[in-house]
Amino acid sequence: MTFDIRFWGVRGSIAAPGPDTQLVGGNTSSVEVVCGQRRILLDAGTGLRRLGDELLKSGPVDVTLLLSHHHWDHIQGLPFFVPLYLPTTRLHVVGPAAERCTMHDVLEHQMTSPVFPVRLDQVPCQLTTQEVSPGARFDLGDVHVRVAKLNHPGGSLAYRIDYQGKSVVYATDTEHYSCVDPMLCSLAEGADVLIYDSQYTPAEYRGEIGPSKVGWGHSTYEDGAALAQAAGVGRYVLFHHDPKRSDDQVLELETRARGLFRASVAAREGMHIALGSVGEAAA
Ligand SMILES: [Zn+2]
Ligand SMILES: [Zn+2]
Repeated sequence: MTFDIRFWGVRGSIAAPGPDTQLVGGNTSSVEVVCGQRRILLDAGTGLRRLGDELLKSGPVDVTLLLSHHHWDHIQGLPFFVPLYLPTTRLHVVGPAAERCTMHDVLEHQMTSPVFPVRLDQVPCQLTTQEVSPGARFDLGDVHVRVAKLNHPGGSLAYRIDYQGKSVVYATDTEHYSCVDPMLCSLAEGADVLIYDSQYTPAEYRGEIGPSKVGWGHSTYEDGAALAQAAGVGRYVLFHHDPKRSDDQVLELETRARGLFRASVAAREGMHIALGSVGEAAA
């Protein structure tokens, strides 16, 4: 049984390449989940570009893309996803509607002159879109997906993917409550892996360092660890690192998170978590 999770972009807000981010990586949100024959991509941040190039090495691309929301750092990789420009590609995009337009409209807007030279309606791939709302459940073959609401300006969706008794929850761009978010705790209950927005330190969040981040729609490793504990997950992955956070600082937050929830790891580009029945391992 194959259940593989690979990280292609782990940064929040804006891509942050440079000498201080080489270990963790500078690309924005892009995660690949392979369940048996089914390939699911989580968000379309700048990490999607390299992922697309890699997919093309194995022939025609047939993927489902689950979008959390429409902020730039989660959709900007799509115009640079080379499989988009091939008629053999099947791309099914699932995500929320925007406040004043459809999800398809949002994707079209970022591929419009003068900001991009190719229009979305000109791409030759077999593109389909499906809007979902919090509480939705749907199947992709024998993979089961559940959707929940997150707390973020303009809205954001969390996804839980279940396949053959294993599960991953992707919950980024969300702000914690003063207690553990009961809806998210229910979604993540017993999951093997929880990928969670851990952009700020508690001091940054409270405004002890820089302006207060209350209401900005992001969370901390402290609240991620509390959620992981309450939901009884197998592993907590700190995700959506602040663009200003250096490699050393991310590793420091990973250490602090481990002090609160032992099975914590900071997401890095290239990290692979295998949940398959043959030799579960993380690298
Ligand atoms: Zn984001
Ligand atoms: Zn966002």
